[in-house]
Amino acid sequence: MNQPVPQSIRRTDDGAIEIVWSDTARRTYTPRLLRDACPCANCREQRLEPAAPPPLLLVLRPEEVARLGIIGMNPVGQYAYAIEFTDGHSSGIYTLEYLRELGGSCESASLRIPPATPAEGNFR
Ligand SMILES: [Zn+2]
Repeated sequence: MNQPVPQSIRRTDDGAIEIVWSDTARRTYTPRLLRDACPCANCREQRLEPAAPPPLLLVLRPEEVARLGIIGMNPVGQYAYAIEFTDGHSSGIYTLEYLRELGGSCESASLRIPPATPAEGNFR
């Protein structure tokens, strides 16, 4: 299977990330979508745990009140990005495959055009 790779990554006016993939798919990722899907061990564990009972007083830390944003996407090797969020979290490593999967859920139908060149190492 050919793994599409980002051709361009840019920040949209509303703070989301737009990735144009090598198979021409264009996907938009909101900070919230990416943050909630953070693949780091801590966040995965938190998502597995049953929701904590609501506290009597809802006290939000300043960083939770502020609108979530993305500070940067730093390439990790050739196949993943570390995403740094404005809430200080940056330990999630998003593989290209995972990013593509996440984007796929925001768009139902897309035109799939096979890449012009076959992936390296795919000889069989
Ligand atoms: Zn995380």
